[in-house]
Amino acid sequence: MLREAKGADFVQTGAWLRRRWVFHAGRHIAARGLTAAELDAATSAQEQTAVPVLDAEPRRYWWCRGRFWWEDDGLDAEDVFALVFEREQRTARRLERAHAIVAAEALPERPRRTPIPQDVRRAVFDRDGGCCVECGATFDLQYDHVIPVALGGASTAQNLQLLCAPCNQRKGASL
Ligand SMILES: [Zn+2]
Repeated sequence: MLREAKGADFVQTGAWLRRRWVFHAGRHIAARGLTAAELDAATSAQEQTAVPVLDAEPRRYWWCRGRFWWEDDGLDAEDVFALVFEREQRTARRLERAHAIVAAEALPERPRRTPIPQDVRRAVFDRDGGCCVECGATFDLQYDHVIPVALGGASTAQNLQLLCAPCNQRKGASL
């Protein structure tokens, strides 16, 4: 499990040529500070990968995509980057939905629900690997419209995803 380390940051110490940037995360403090050049290199690297910034057994802290994270699962840089990237995508999708909801307020009429064609169901099921796209559950699955029908979403494979009933319910509650 990857968690954001809110409040963690690099703190500047020393002066002039002895200036260093030391990573702090609550009571965990890196033993060694970074030079300006090292900080520059890490700043650009963390856009494309995850940079380990502190080992505080069993936790490891990472810098990735402008934020700090920690995990204690022994993840590697590629794992962390993938998880952070996936989280960004999910946030972007959620924003897209939120905007669609706002835009739908202006719709004059709510379109009626039409049944999902069998071939579309099969395509969606295959694409999503027969499991909930949120949590990976393989039981109690439902076809969910990413953009709801009531908001103008179509019954196409592109606008459909597999969700388990609990995830679908949570999604409904967050709309
Ligand atoms: Zn689920």
